[in-house]
Amino acid sequence: MDLKELIRDVPGFPKEGIIFKDITTLTKDAAGFRESVDRIVERYADAAVDLVVGIEARGFIFGGAIAYQLGVGFVPARKPGKLPAETVRAEYELEYGTDAIEMHKDAITPGQRVLIVDDLLATGGTACAAAVLVEKLGGQVVAFAFLVDLPFLGGGGKLPGYEVFSLVAYEGE
Ligand code: AMP
Repeated sequence: MDLKELIRDVPGFPKEGIIFKDITTLTKDAAGFRESVDRIVERYADAAVDLVVGIEARGFIFGGAIAYQLGVGFVPARKPGKLPAETVRAEYELEYGTDAIEMHKDAITPGQRVLIVDDLLATGGTACAAAVLVEKLGGQVVAFAFLVDLPFLGGGGKLPGYEVFSLVAYEGE
């Protein structure tokens, strides 16, 4: 199955010059959604993952399903101010703007092996911040898994020494 056929380009969102890769056209397709989740699960089924961390918001859609299939727990990395209990926070730069993410302080037990999931890798700032939080809490990053990589934005370079897995990549298309 060519997952690219299910991902919609929305030029000019959220601002001019950005081609937004809309994965809602993939997630509404039962076979496409299942295949996306299954391909990531297959790759990490034997990697002794203890926990999936999904990045708000589209990382929740895939991360939850992947955690369920792997038979492990799910932890959300959220935008500031959303989590109710005590949090840790990391700031990062986006392809468009700056932001921060937070995780609950007690979300990870030191030594747990964590798979970090998001829909898309652009400049790598978000994923890098998620890794900072996971490691701050004593977790070990097994890998990053994305649906989409935009390698021309250099995100992989912000994640040196980590395994970075993606299902599809676009070369400046
Ligand atoms: P970055 O921190 O630059 O790697 O940005 C990754 C985050 O921003 C992910 O959570 C993506 O969902 C979102 N994002 C950045 N650029 C795009 C894009 N061109 N299309 C869709 N989502 C994007």
